[in-house]
Amino acid sequence: MAEETIFSKIIRREIPADIVYQDELVTAFSDISPQAPTHVLIIPNVLIPTINDVTAEHEPALGRMITVASQIAAERGIADDGYRLIINCNQHGGQEVFHIHMHLVGGKPLGRMLAQQ
Ligand code: 5GP
Repeated sequence: MAEETIFSKIIRREIPADIVYQDELVTAFSDISPQAPTHVLIIPNVLIPTINDVTAEHEPALGRMITVASQIAAERGIADDGYRLIINCNQHGGQEVFHIHMHLVGGKPLGRMLAQQ
């Protein structure tokens, strides 16, 4: 059984967060430490620790995450200029919170995809 993270408390509205969208499958909220003018996290309501733990039963929630990202980008007026969707996995990916989350970042040119070493 995976251990809950702070994101489960955000889903249940037990701690404050700027929730911008929620339905039966996913929750979207502003990142507490934004890296761009728009930085929203979109997460499944069910706890899936990493992308390595995904199974076919999660596909509806994972698909909804993409749909919601597209809707939020349109609402924020950043769809045409473009934006980036990121899911980090484990140590090399830089994952810090072990509840799958998709970063929606945009609102400015984001540069190259990977930092230069
Ligand atoms: P990761 O590195 O795991 O892909 O990203 C975790 C993200 O969660 C970071 O961008 C971090 O700022 C954000 N984050 C961590 N704790 C909280 C929190 O309590 N509330 C919100 N809104 N964002 C958080």
